[in-house]
Amino acid sequence: MSKERRMIEITPGRMSPGGRMTDRIESRGHSCPYCQGNGYHWQEDEWQERYKQECPICNGSGRLDALITVEWRASDNV
Ligand SMILES: [Zn+2]
Repeated sequence: MSKERRMIEITPGRMSPGGRMTDRIESRGHSCPYCQGNGYHWQEDEWQERYKQECPICNGSGRLDALITVEWRASDNV
């Protein structure tokens, strides 16, 4: 099975006193591990009829987005 690897480079951007000390990184379109990217699971009703049930993790999209917040602070290692 192939696996995608993504890297995040963490480096402080332009900063000013009293400005925000956070960065937000988005990593979109990861394959949902719960439904293997299908967006649904096969289910059977009481007549053994198969039907697709929407994945509750990705809401049927088959994809997940990661929102990463980086919080910068002064180093206490002086
Ligand atoms: Zn899913």
